[in-house]
Amino acid sequence: MRKTPEFEDCFAELISLPSVSCVNPEHDQSNRRVIDVLANWLDALGFACEIMPINDSPEKCNLIARLGGGQTEQNSGLVLSGHTDTVPYDANGWNTDPFKLTKKNENYYGLGTADMKNFFPIIVEALERLSDVKFSKPITVVATADEESTMSGARAIQQANKPLGRYCIIGEPTGLIPRHMHKGIIIEKIHIQGYSGHSSDPSLGNSALEGMNDVLNALRRWRDELQTEFQNDKFKIPVPTLNLGSIQGGDSANRICANCELLMDLRMLPGMELEPLKQKLYRIVNDTLAGSGLKVEFNSLFNGTRPMQTSTDSEIIKISEKVTQQISSSVAFGTEGPFFNDMGLETVILGPGDIHVAHQPNEYLQINRIEPSINIISKMMNHFCASK
Ligand SMILES: [Zn+2]
Repeated sequence: MRKTPEFEDCFAELISLPSVSCVNPEHDQSNRRVIDVLANWLDALGFACEIMPINDSPEKCNLIARLGGGQTEQNSGLVLSGHTDTVPYDANGWNTDPFKLTKKNENYYGLGTADMKNFFPIIVEALERLSDVKFSKPITVVATADEESTMSGARAIQQANKPLGRYCIIGEPTGLIPRHMHKGIIIEKIHIQGYSGHSSDPSLGNSALEGMNDVLNALRRWRDELQTEFQNDKFKIPVPTLNLGSIQGGDSANRICANCELLMDLRMLPGMELEPLKQKLYRIVNDTLAGSGLKVEFNSLFNGTRPMQTSTDSEIIKISEKVTQQISSSVAFGTEGPFFNDMGLETVILGPGDIHVAHQPNEYLQINRIEPSINIISKMMNHFCASK
């Protein structure tokens, strides 16, 4: 007998519960209701559920739910992980209610249908169908908060340092193609402050714009160095990239420019560490401006995501390739994968959504992706956790 609501009812319920996360507090919401609903379903399926408040706030939580396997099996088995939050939405762009799961044109529409509330009902459905199977190794479902904003949920799990399992599937939108690596990214704002004066006499001011010109040249030299030093031909763009994306400064031709601001991003390959790269960036800028009398301020526009790489020899990649009949490759977006890999799990990114409809009005999931997804997840649970 079924212990949880039907697939479509589960999916509709998750979509109906707003759980926007955003670095702008005006748009940021709690994910607690999503976590509670998931805990209820998994509890009914026999899981031991732990709700983990983040930074002591009951409004932002992770769920860690475990089924099967004894104490000695702590580091084995399969983790199925997903984030419970969505990005903010632009109500004007939607043709349907973003919080009502709507079936239309062979698709499910709603906020989070692709990225990635679908993953939990798929897991629940797979478990319902496998209710007769005895799992000798644990299945652990992890549901995180704040993936779309600060990654505070994944960070809290890493800091808690609990054994979760051996292998991990993160159901981010990959169109059911397994992915074992992605680049990392940092986005920085660099503000240079000089002071203004009449352009007829340079000694009256100190030009932030000329200082920025030196910084731009130094950053381009650094980019050349990074691209010489780091290469990975598994990526379509096989080198780290550094984009000088936006610049603003000054106000008129006859005034010395007092303020100049640059926005840039740096996308790094696996093997390049986020914090040391940031420190190197700050050092290059500071060294370039040393002795100029110009002041500089740095702002990270978000925490950054780290690069991820799982070996293609890993069992999780090999089995993912087998059950999907697809070759694993790289993705162009960041995930919580690096946190799980750091905890010693071997992680694959594999989910039914399409990334090109995520983070957009009228986000959808193709209905014909559901059955293959349930099949894939069932086969993975069987392979990694069932008694042989
Ligand atoms: Zn996502």
